[in-house]
Amino acid sequence: MEKFSKKINGWFIDPQIFTYKFICNCPGECCYYGVYADYKEYETILSIKDKIIDNMDETQTKDVSKWFEPPEKDDDFESGIAVGTEIVNGKCTFLDKNGRCTLQKIALQEGEYKWKYKPVYCVLFPLTTFEGALTIDTEHIERLPNCNTESCNKLTMFEACREELAHFLGEEGFEELKNYREEYLNEINIGVKEDVTK
Ligand code: SF4
Repeated sequence: MEKFSKKINGWFIDPQIFTYKFICNCPGECCYYGVYADYKEYETILSIKDKIIDNMDETQTKDVSKWFEPPEKDDDFESGIAVGTEIVNGKCTFLDKNGRCTLQKIALQEGEYKWKYKPVYCVLFPLTTFEGALTIDTEHIERLPNCNTESCNKLTMFEACREELAHFLGEEGFEELKNYREEYLNEINIGVKEDVTK
């Protein structure tokens, strides 16, 4: 990946996250297509299957064999294996009828960190990783009819996703990201760099 210069925690950083405007304004539409989880995340989810079943509603299947696609080799994932969640009733098998993720619901009920059981790519969206870079998932944003549709009150992706970025990069990585943002925005202000999101 030559097009980005800054690397944090081994990931190149797409600086468009500092200028791209975003607003989260829909009830879980990004979950309609499911997600790819790392094999370890898949194992974590299966380890709490009984709690998941207890928390599912009538629009979700309690048949565990229908929750995931077959695991597949994928070097973009830490364990080298990715497992997709199945789509049930037009939404991720873990999305309930109220647009809430059952995995997050369980963590909150237990008083645990809210993203304890959630695959990292669920937490990251509308950010994603692609070819070794932390970047914006514009492809998925554009195929969701109600995602990022408001024209006002938009924040930059960085501002809208501070917590998600800190979760992904860790506190130290996030501090480095903040410094990089300042440098990058300063370079735009003085005309050394162009804001490609305009
Ligand atoms: S696991 Fe939860 S957050 Fe991730 S796509 Fe499914 S419902 Fe959405």
